[in-house]
Amino acid sequence: NFISAVVPSDEIGVKFDDIGALEDVKKALNELVILPMRRPELFSRGNLLRPCKGILLFGPPGTGKTLLAKALATEAGANFISITGSTLTSKWFGDAEKLTKALFSFASKLAPVIIFVDEVDSLLGARGGSFEHEATRRMRNEFMAAWDGLRSKENQRILILGATNRPFDLDDAVIRRLPRRIYIDLPDAENRMKILRIVLAQENLVPDFEYDKLAKLTEGYSGSDLKNLCIAAAYRPVQELIEEEEKGGNNGISSVLRALNVDDFVESKAKVGPSVAYDA
Ligand code: ATP
Repeated sequence: NFISAVVPSDEIGVKFDDIGALEDVKKALNELVILPMRRPELFSRGNLLRPCKGILLFGPPGTGKTLLAKALATEAGANFISITGSTLTSKWFGDAEKLTKALFSFASKLAPVIIFVDEVDSLLGARGGSFEHEATRRMRNEFMAAWDGLRSKENQRILILGATNRPFDLDDAVIRRLPRRIYIDLPDAENRMKILRIVLAQENLVPDFEYDKLAKLTEGYSGSDLKNLCIAAAYRPVQELIEEEEKGGNNGISSVLRALNVDDFVESKAKVGPSVAYDA
C-alpha cells in the first residue's frame, strides 16, 4: 500500500471530460501542468515561466480531488504515482528514509510523472510537538529534503500534487513548497447537473429525465455524494424486480428493469444525504 502506481481499473485513462464541473480548475491545471509537461521547451528559457513543481488541491471531501489528479496525469501524458499520507505514517514506522528515497528515485525514472499525495496533512502536517512519533518526523524531514532536491533540478518533469480537506493543518514549510493552491468547492446546482449527466450517462432513465429538478434537490451534495445517491437510486428497480419474483409474479422469470425516474432519487435521499454539514 505504500505506493499505488496502479490506478483502479475503472479509472484508468480517466480524462477531464469524465469530470463534471470544475471548469476553472481544469483551465488552471492546463496552464500550470499540462502545457509545461507536454511542451517543456516553451518553459525552459528566461525566468518568468517556470514549470510549477508543487500544487495543493484543497476543499471538502468527495469533491473530486483524486479523480482530478488521475485525469490530470492522463491529460498531461504523465505517469501517476499515488500515495496516502495516513498509510505512510501508520504502516512504515522505521523505514521512513529508505522508503522516501525509493519513492523519489522511482519517480525520477518515471518522469514525466505526477506524485499525488492524498491526505498530505497526515504526512506533512504541522509539527506534532512532543506527541509526534519520531518516525513521522523523520519521514517528513526526509520527504522535504528529497522534494527540495527535485525542485532544484529545473528540467525534471516531476510534479507533487497534494490534496487535503484540512489545509489549516499544514505547516508553513509545506505551504511554501506548494506555491499554487486550488480550492475545490462543493458544486452548485448547475455544476451538480453537469456531474449527474456524467454519472448517469450510461443509465436507463425515463425520457425527459428532469436533471434540473434533481440538481436543485441535492443542495450540499458533493460529487461523491451524488454518485452514491445515483447508486442507491439505481438499486430500486432491481429490488422491485426481486420482490416481484419472490411474490411469484412474472412466473418467477426475471423481466427487464424499469427506467429510473427522479422519484427514485428523491426516495434514496433518506439513505444517502450530503456528507458535509451544509448551511444553505
Ligand atoms: P476525498 O477528499 O474524500 O479523498 P476527493 O475530493 O478526492 O475526496 P474523489 O475521491 O475524487 O474525491 O471522488 C470520489 C468519487 O466521486 C469519484 O471517484 C467520482 O466517482 C465521484 N466524483 C466526485 N466529483 C466528481 C465530479 N466532479 N464529476 C464526476 N464524478 C465525481
